[in-house]
Amino acid sequence: MLHLSLWGLIGMNALFSGGYWTLFHLGGVPVRLHWSVPLVCVLFGGLRFAPGLWLGILLVILLHELGHAFFVRRFGLANLGIDLTGIGGLCRWAGEPTPIERAWVAWGGVLAQLVLFTVTIVPVAVLGTPSHPWVAQLVEAFLWPNLFVAGFNLIPFAPFDGAEAWPLFGHLWRRHRARQKWKKKLVKAKDLGETPLEQTLRQALDEADRRKLH
Ligand SMILES: [Zn+2]
Repeated sequence: MLHLSLWGLIGMNALFSGGYWTLFHLGGVPVRLHWSVPLVCVLFGGLRFAPGLWLGILLVILLHELGHAFFVRRFGLANLGIDLTGIGGLCRWAGEPTPIERAWVAWGGVLAQLVLFTVTIVPVAVLGTPSHPWVAQLVEAFLWPNLFVAGFNLIPFAPFDGAEAWPLFGHLWRRHRARQKWKKKLVKAKDLGETPLEQTLRQALDEADRRKLH
């Protein structure tokens, strides 16, 4: 959820370097829970006994990180692990993504949360809130607190996901422009009866000649 800078990570290192329980492995990726999570869940729940709400918050954070992990995997990058901590979660991954891939990974968390919101609000709107208080708390966590956390994560500066997510639109626009430019070049090459390779070679030779003349 939070993507900490190097200095932030060093600062947090002391607190979050240990104290984890490995909950389970998902496709070989360890999912770990930090001791601070139960504490924060209780505080977030207003110190009341609300196990449904606690579980709900935990599942929201887990799903957010799984959203990141989904895109990491999709782009052939390496998932190292998911940590759930009192300050959110951390999807640890490695690889060399393109700027567009990096931005999609950043969107992954929030997109997963929006899917959860949508698949929850529809049955609630039709059937109403569940009668059992614990189930009602769980459903409640999937709605407005979930949406609040998603919005919070889109704050457009580090360490929030927004810092890497919002540039996606700029990257896509630049890619679109570059593709249009190449399309025009290919059409021109076709008109001249040249293959793209021949045209590229001719442009390179023209460019070299121009440099020699100056
Ligand atoms: Zn995130």
